[in-house]
Amino acid sequence: MSQRVEIGVDVSRAVSQILSGQLVAIPTETVYGLAADALNPLAVARIFEAKQRPKFDPLIVHIASQETLALIAKNVPLIIQKLIDQFWPGPLTVVLPKHECVPDLVTSGLSSVAIRMPDHPLALQLIQQSEKPLAAPSANLFGRTSPTTALHVAEQLEEHVAYILDGGPCKVGIESTIIGLCNDVPTLLRPGGITIEQIESLLGKGAISSSYSENQSTDSPLAPGQLKEHYAPLTPLIIAKKPHRPDGCRRVGLLTLQKAELDQQRPELFFEVIEELSSTGNLTEAASNFFAAIRRLDAEGLDLIIATPFPAYGLGFALNDRLSRAAR
Ligand code: AMP
Ligand code: MG
Repeated sequence: MSQRVEIGVDVSRAVSQILSGQLVAIPTETVYGLAADALNPLAVARIFEAKQRPKFDPLIVHIASQETLALIAKNVPLIIQKLIDQFWPGPLTVVLPKHECVPDLVTSGLSSVAIRMPDHPLALQLIQQSEKPLAAPSANLFGRTSPTTALHVAEQLEEHVAYILDGGPCKVGIESTIIGLCNDVPTLLRPGGITIEQIESLLGKGAISSSYSENQSTDSPLAPGQLKEHYAPLTPLIIAKKPHRPDGCRRVGLLTLQKAELDQQRPELFFEVIEELSSTGNLTEAASNFFAAIRRLDAEGLDLIIATPFPAYGLGFALNDRLSRAAR
């Protein structure tokens, strides 16, 4: 592929581009982000244009210190502070009432703002050195598979970014967990890289409202932008517990956690390509491979991708969420 955008590790170059209102792709532990100065509405507008993202889908603001948190969020309830102290920097986003300085475009006109502190040295350096909070959704076209390497970003968005900071493959590999407050009760708005089990071991069982599963079946969920169709490859993807090649499909690919757990003895006989996410069934390893595996399958020119569901605990919960939105 001919590369029209530069990829590198030059943080000072990225700083000047952020300060001049341009877009920089940044590595984080979850997925690569398409970052702009969150306090500059013109720069933020470029994110929506580049991604073709609808304006009703609010962005997450990335910060590098809790002092910045106080500048953009109005008050931080004790229970949210507890989560922040435990999980930041890391894949946890909190939704809090916003200060005036946060442009309406960032929050899609909501009076609340979503904030997190990413756990990646290059992202943190960029935020610290530019002295700006960064609005950054995933660096892919809207609705498509999230990028977990610098090259993934270049494949889709090279014409739109000034520079891609290359921090290597993303360690966690799926997006952050989002927690908001509903009638003062912490509520799961999106499952992600911090598991419910981790949150419950900190706050106690049942401390987080579980309205998420009810919400996701509707078209007007609690968290705006949590659309039913998302993360989708161009190849049709279906989910099946017992994957078999349907009649009429010549080339079918399989996405599975662990081959050894499949019913079939010789899956190679039925599937053109198999992506096994972790030969030991490790969900952390599976999450870090997940989006890249979907991209590889999508590049194979298959008729169909069949994915087996993940176990419904730990990171499996977030992985099943991504899978169900990628399916059609
Ligand atoms: P991403 O698409 O990974 O950039 O994550 C952004 C998602 O965070 C949005 O699609 C919303 O679901 C959620 N979000 C962002 N801001 C808010 C907010 N103020 N209130 C509720 N959810 C939000
Ligand atoms: Mg995204």
